[in-house]
Amino acid sequence: MIMVTPEFWIRNATVITGRQSLPADVHVRGEKIIELVRRDPRPGTAAGRPSARERAPGGPHLPPLPAGTAPPEAVEAAGLWLLPGGVDAHVHCGMSPRPGITSLGWRQSSEAALLGGTTTIIDFAEPRGDEPLAAAVDRRRAEAAGECLCDFGLHVTVTPAAAGRLAELPALVERGCPSFKAFLAYPDRLMLDETALRRLMAAAAAAGGQVLIHAEDGRLVADRQESLIRAGRTGPQWHSAAHPPEAELRAVEQTLGLAVATRCPLLLVHLTLAGSLAHLRRARARAARPGHLRGEVCLHHLVASSGCCRDTDEDHLRAVFSPPLRSAQDSAALLAGLADGSLDLLSTDHCEFTLRAKRKAASDGFAAIPNGTGGVGERLALSHDRAVRTGDMRRERWVMVCCERPAALGGLAGRKGCIAPGFDADLVLFDPAAAGPWQPLGASDPEASLYTGLPVQGRVRSVWLRGRQVVREGGLVRPAAAGQFLVRSPVDW
Ligand SMILES: [Zn+2]
Repeated sequence: MIMVTPEFWIRNATVITGRQSLPADVHVRGEKIIELVRRDPRPGTAAGRPSARERAPGGPHLPPLPAGTAPPEAVEAAGLWLLPGGVDAHVHCGMSPRPGITSLGWRQSSEAALLGGTTTIIDFAEPRGDEPLAAAVDRRRAEAAGECLCDFGLHVTVTPAAAGRLAELPALVERGCPSFKAFLAYPDRLMLDETALRRLMAAAAAAGGQVLIHAEDGRLVADRQESLIRAGRTGPQWHSAAHPPEAELRAVEQTLGLAVATRCPLLLVHLTLAGSLAHLRRARARAARPGHLRGEVCLHHLVASSGCCRDTDEDHLRAVFSPPLRSAQDSAALLAGLADGSLDLLSTDHCEFTLRAKRKAASDGFAAIPNGTGGVGERLALSHDRAVRTGDMRRERWVMVCCERPAALGGLAGRKGCIAPGFDADLVLFDPAAAGPWQPLGASDPEASLYTGLPVQGRVRSVWLRGRQVVREGGLVRPAAAGQFLVRSPVDW
């Protein structure tokens, strides 16, 4: 059995939040951050003099320690950054697009998350057939129980079969799932038509929820797929040709219009194009409630582009996900949008299939290849290397888009995503100077990863989840703490 460390300090780190960086000591007791002591830097010394103190509500009257408890441990962290645990609001663990094919499961994906400094993930509950939505949530929670090593929440996917169950939305919001995902893509399985989407948005807004949209015009994609296949173009290199920019642009515009009309808080997930960002900016500029319209970018669209694909089948297989990689100019526009506040969060859409599984499926043509790539372990280090180290994004903004905003928009404000008294003690010691070729973390498949071997500066050293150390010097502490299901609150948009 592992002992819960009841109390410790992390001293002399540079504490980074979404708003500021400050040299400080952080005091943890039980599962919470209880105190932050700012240090005034003194020139020529590593550590400063303690000055202002911030304490958890309750002030100096901290809860008493159990009798016989040893004095608090101190972790020395000079030269390192202390970040809030990462919050990845878009991951898929153990996703099975069809029988016999399953993406990396809860345990392996959450291990990679922790090793990469992400302590909270939000996955999805997708109802099967006509299953009640709450039953889908219960089923996913049962799958994750004892398997998911980080804390997790669930968005609820509203499939065409579930679109008649909108009366169930208020109960789901009540049970901690205030976000609903819908697709304009995948006409054979998941796509909602405009009427169904409009109804969903109106119902979600009335229930105090929000809607997440995969915005690609599924009919256009299906047409392109068919004509490519008819022309004998069935190799994995044709996947991206089946997902043209028009499909996304059209769907983004349609979705923004519906969200404004229904007054529904909207998060456009995995935007990939400069043009989509332009649509979002325009809609916000005109909207009565611009805060209702939000955009997400995913790691692979930010740090990779179609130009990264050399011309082997394996490169193309790795890059089978939807929407596909776009141009380097699009990636640069997304990075600028994330830095200037036009986009709100950096997620991963982590959904990792082995290269072997993709290769096997590819014998039936590109349309049969499971869509997805890993990234939950890569997000902090890779985005540090490509955005912060390069000077394209301030480090506080990086923490904002990787931790604080995804927590706040996910209904976890006050608990996750920030280093402040009262928040969960989800903490990451990050070494911004450590550099070397990237190796996928934990059980991730190095063959399938887009990032294996790339030079990356910045590494996660140690991680605490609700006060328990779960990663030490880059290695998982076994047995790791168990993740908890997060009952998320409706967001005041
Ligand atoms: Zn996804």
